Amino acid sequence: MRTTVLIVAAGSGSRLQAGVPKALVTLGDGRTMLEHCLDSVVAARDAGAVELNAIAVVVPADPDAAASLEAVCQAVAARTAVTVQTVPGGAERADSVRAGLAAVRTLAGTAGGPFGRHALLIHDAARPFVPPAVFDAVVTALGSGTVAVVPAVEVVDTIKSVARAGAELSAEAGAAPEEVTGTLQRTQLRAVQTPQGFDLTSLEAAHRRAEQDAGLSGGAAALTDDAMAMEAAGHRVGVVAGDPLGFKITTQLDLMLANALLASTTLEHH
Ligand code: C5P
Repeated sequence: MRTTVLIVAAGSGSRLQAGVPKALVTLGDGRTMLEHCLDSVVAARDAGAVELNAIAVVVPADPDAAASLEAVCQAVAARTAVTVQTVPGGAERADSVRAGLAAVRTLAGTAGGPFGRHALLIHDAARPFVPPAVFDAVVTALGSGTVAVVPAVEVVDTIKSVARAGAELSAEAGAAPEEVTGTLQRTQLRAVQTPQGFDLTSLEAAHRRAEQDAGLSGGAAALTDDAMAMEAAGHRVGVVAGDPLGFKITTQLDLMLANALLASTTLEHH
């Protein structure tokens, strides 16, 4: 199935404290996070896992950041013969995805309209090391008729819900403890990664619906992944095996892990 990949790279990366948008952070080998991410998509194409149509990259609205990321995209496009198009993002991840969907529709053409299916993979730029096998698992599940597929790993921590949900957990000495309101059964939980795979037309409709749905409290900020929009629209979402290498770089510790991996032989395709 022809597949367009949408990479969201418009996050500020404030938790990384790098002073530049996260996708522009340079890893230990001198290449940016976005370049690694784009290369992982191309590696999946080269491995035969993805029948790649084009890539759309959502970048920050800030002109300097946008220009730097655009340069990264065009360098990868030139050396891999893939069409890569950038588009400015929004305040929340879901806003950025919605901004990117219009570009994806143009890149996909009329495919995926009422008469044909077109696959969409939505991927975080902050996950630069996803192996081709994960792309393969997601695309294969889409090909067998599932309209939404997420890659996931098992959860190692016990996850509890707390009162004061929505507030940040205070690390200040003497801060009042939060109160546990429940414990989710760890065996029933999965930690979900990207790329998440969708039938393009179904995902467009689900995002439009989620945007309009006042019942989805918290608006765009509450939509932390795209499968949530499909769940809210009543679609079944399939889960396939992700990979520990699909981890998201969020903190300095994650960055250290990424650089340690690059310095080792673990990342053979990079
Ligand atoms: O913030 P979080 O770590 O969940 O971001 C996941 C991905 O979403 C990152 O690749 C980030 O660049 C992207 N994002 C975005 N627009 C935003 C916020 C996050 O494209 N407003």
